[in-house]
Amino acid sequence: MKTKIAVAKGDGIGPEIMAAVLRIFEAANVQLDYEFVEMGKSYFDAGHSTGMTAAAKETIERLGLLFKGPMETPKGKGVKSINVTARKVWNTYANQRDFRSLNGVDTVFSKAGIPINLTIVRENIEDTYGGIEHLLTNDVAVGRRIITRPGSAQVIRYAFEMARRKGYTKLACGHKANIMKLTDGLFLETFYEIAREYPDIESSDIIVDDLCMKLVSRPEMFQAIVLTNLQGDIVSDLCAGLVGGLGFAPSANIGDNISIFEAVHGTAPDIAGRGIANPTALLLSGILMLRYLGFTTAAANVENSLLYTLEQGVHTGDFGDKSVASVNTDTFADAVIANLGKVPAKGEVIGQPDVQVKANHDHPLKNKLTVTKAATTEEMVGVDVFVESSKQPNELAEIAQRKQTDNFKLVMISNRGTQVWPTGSIFTELVNEYRIRFEKKDGTEITQKEILHIAADLSEDFKVCSVEFLMKFDGKLGYTLAQGQ
Ligand code: NAD
Repeated sequence: MKTKIAVAKGDGIGPEIMAAVLRIFEAANVQLDYEFVEMGKSYFDAGHSTGMTAAAKETIERLGLLFKGPMETPKGKGVKSINVTARKVWNTYANQRDFRSLNGVDTVFSKAGIPINLTIVRENIEDTYGGIEHLLTNDVAVGRRIITRPGSAQVIRYAFEMARRKGYTKLACGHKANIMKLTDGLFLETFYEIAREYPDIESSDIIVDDLCMKLVSRPEMFQAIVLTNLQGDIVSDLCAGLVGGLGFAPSANIGDNISIFEAVHGTAPDIAGRGIANPTALLLSGILMLRYLGFTTAAANVENSLLYTLEQGVHTGDFGDKSVASVNTDTFADAVIANLGKVPAKGEVIGQPDVQVKANHDHPLKNKLTVTKAATTEEMVGVDVFVESSKQPNELAEIAQRKQTDNFKLVMISNRGTQVWPTGSIFTELVNEYRIRFEKKDGTEITQKEILHIAADLSEDFKVCSVEFLMKFDGKLGYTLAQGQ
């Protein structure tokens, strides 16, 4: 029985490289059936604001697996990226990207005889990719960075499970918890909580800037790294550079119900329609997908043929030995097909069941809501009111002090996160948005209503831009101090 999956050819070079990959799969007798779905630029242009037809959505949700070519999101039409939307709507929470040196793909590391074989697992839903941004004053834009305990746990557990399946001995967590103490701090804390369940995997953490430096100087130090969304996005492109570029970077977006396999690169509009694109990244993504579906023998067969072909020096125009003529997409696919059954001299792949985590295609009846610890004690301790003002900090403080009540005292004013009152520096440059922090007085209890009253009182003198409640959870501060506070 063949397994049915949804296929979207994509835009730009998408249809060219997808045709090449499906032709290789067919020649390798891969037991897949395809339902082609309509997604991408032309569906945005046809007025589908989500970039896909209702039938495409139904097919993908029914089959649980989408193999997709790159897609273009029209610029300036106010529509969100279809690639990001698909990952978020279907909760493909773990983005796995495998990077390894390939014979025939020269890099500084291959020339130095340093092999690279590492996997980045990037959180795929949260972080700044919620795209929740507001222009608060004409000069000040803010974006929300959302990191949740359940969301972090999901991707971190996936990373540990993947490390185990691949026979890795270590997993590192990349983060910036020294600066983003609550968001990255929560991700890091969750990492070490989950690490306790995997004593066979050596767990460690590394600050993301140090990680980047070490990746470009000593990439062999790492086997697998798990990161939050934006940092993972940047670090994975860096890793693509280590192994020869985006043309060699496959990607799996894994969810509990729906998963999406695609190349990391985009639609390459500069070479679209010329039949010269490199299908390797999409083919490597397809190989990841075959393993995921449990077709490990077929995956090894196709991969060995690809590695053999690269080893022979067959290459498209974007890589390889410039003194050897490049081939077009179809000829490259023909070579991989002709080499099926052959194995590379170095790095032969054995068809072991290494990443078989086939999705369950259950259809949940309602959205899943996860609360990790319902019985947390919470205490409201104050408020940050963000206001627009072009006044100096002292003038602002004078007005804000008049708004103090029996329960609230003004404790701090900051500008761009740096404290400017009660103490500060004359050298701190200001913009026209301030944070005014009130905290409750010792021994008092405050309500949200009182807090909103404070904000309302401030609105008599300023434009209030936003209000954040200050909380303690189980006695721990749920907010950060200002720089200099
Ligand atoms: P890109 O990856 O499409 O192209 C960057 C450069 O790499 C170009 O010079 C291109 O010719 C080259 N390149 C990329 N893939 C190649 C391949 N397989 N073979 C040979 N050369 C290749 O990035 P971009 O130009 O920033 O983006 C173009 C479009 O793709 C945008 O609309 C963007 O939104 C979209 N995009 C989609 C995805 C996705 O579907 N997952 C990812 C990234 C970008």
